Amino acid sequence: MSQKIINIANISQQGAAPALPPVLEEPSGSLLDMRSRPLQDLRISLTDRCNFRCVYCMPRSIFDKDHAFLPRASLLSFEEIIRITKIFVAHGVSKIRLTGGEPLLRKHIEKLIEQLAQLKTPDGRLLDLTLTTNGSLLGKKAQALKDAGLTRVTVSLDSLDDATFKRMNDADFPVSDVLEGLAVAHDVGLDSIKINMVVKNGLNDQEIVPMARYFKDSPFILRFIEYMDVGASNGWQMNEVIPSAEIVKRIAAEMPLEKVLAGNPSDTAERWRYLDGGGEIGLISSVTQAFCHSCVRARISTEGVLYTCLFASSGFDLRSLMRDGKSDLEISSALAHLWRARNDRYSELRSAQTDGLAPSSRKIEMSYIGG
Ligand code: SAM
Ligand code: SF4
Ligand code: SF4
Repeated sequence: MSQKIINIANISQQGAAPALPPVLEEPSGSLLDMRSRPLQDLRISLTDRCNFRCVYCMPRSIFDKDHAFLPRASLLSFEEIIRITKIFVAHGVSKIRLTGGEPLLRKHIEKLIEQLAQLKTPDGRLLDLTLTTNGSLLGKKAQALKDAGLTRVTVSLDSLDDATFKRMNDADFPVSDVLEGLAVAHDVGLDSIKINMVVKNGLNDQEIVPMARYFKDSPFILRFIEYMDVGASNGWQMNEVIPSAEIVKRIAAEMPLEKVLAGNPSDTAERWRYLDGGGEIGLISSVTQAFCHSCVRARISTEGVLYTCLFASSGFDLRSLMRDGKSDLEISSALAHLWRARNDRYSELRSAQTDGLAPSSRKIEMSYIGG
């Protein structure tokens, strides 16, 4: 099927500056959208670049040497990131995830983390600050990240088999370096480290059970992610998704599991624990069990465009508000206005259609918006 692929340069124009509401209002610490979902989590993309070319995210055929990544001046500066984060926090955000692209490629990231780690919610709590990485630079950077105030980290790893992993990252990157990064992260004291494994049928589904076996009885929590139709470049098809129910079935056949009762309703992962006390796994079933009803996440792209859904085709340019000299109160009021108008539920609508939604050529790429 041929699809029009959007160039990042075009994407960056898809975020028009939001209009300022006629009446400005101080943030109250809580904002609800049209479906009564509070604004609680913020994912910040620090770069659209990556040293991997995962086939499900940045296929090399599209993200090749001619691909135009964002110029440096487009990126939000650390000052701008801190400023906008404070505004989100004043509206109720208490959890921040740094992502990308590969966030550890962003120069001096530890300086940003140092400042984010000092921010507090209106009732005086430190933020829950975490980061998702492909792990390639974790061995080198874990100590500096920990010293800067990062407490948690999520590491993506799709296979323990080198040949399969290299086929997926398409950058000749070996499994051993990611495992080494994980060990260092654990040694320096980063806790509740999670491992994200995207499962793509026919590519790495044979690795489901070996991965479960390997991380059982370890300090790491393995989470299986259903392959999603995010972006417009990965050529997603429903038959490439292995449903979470099937993943549980395959693991439980060898290592019996029981479901853990839901804790936080906004958690994206369903938790299952091993009956023998060997820890637990998580399942993120964005395709087969959409969780839009509890989606409390906003995303800011590398250049400061706000997206209220991972599958959005356009966003709102917060950077231009900052660079045009708007006050915190004006930006905060614009954000309140946007969130209250939010009605996104792409995955639920997709689930309602047995053969998936018609692919859109304008969905934003995950490497740009942040996973
Ligand atoms: N580069 C970092 C990494 O890989 O961890 C952070 C950014 S990446 C976009 C964030 C997460 O999104 C990763 O765990 C990745 O596996 C996941 N991801 C990317 N494309 C996906 C897709 N099509 N379906 C499901 N998960 C995907
Ligand atoms: Fe890079 Fe992460 Fe996307 Fe893989 S999933 S290409 S590591 S941004
Ligand atoms: Fe949230 Fe959009 Fe994903 Fe639904 S599809 S869970 S609204 S990001």
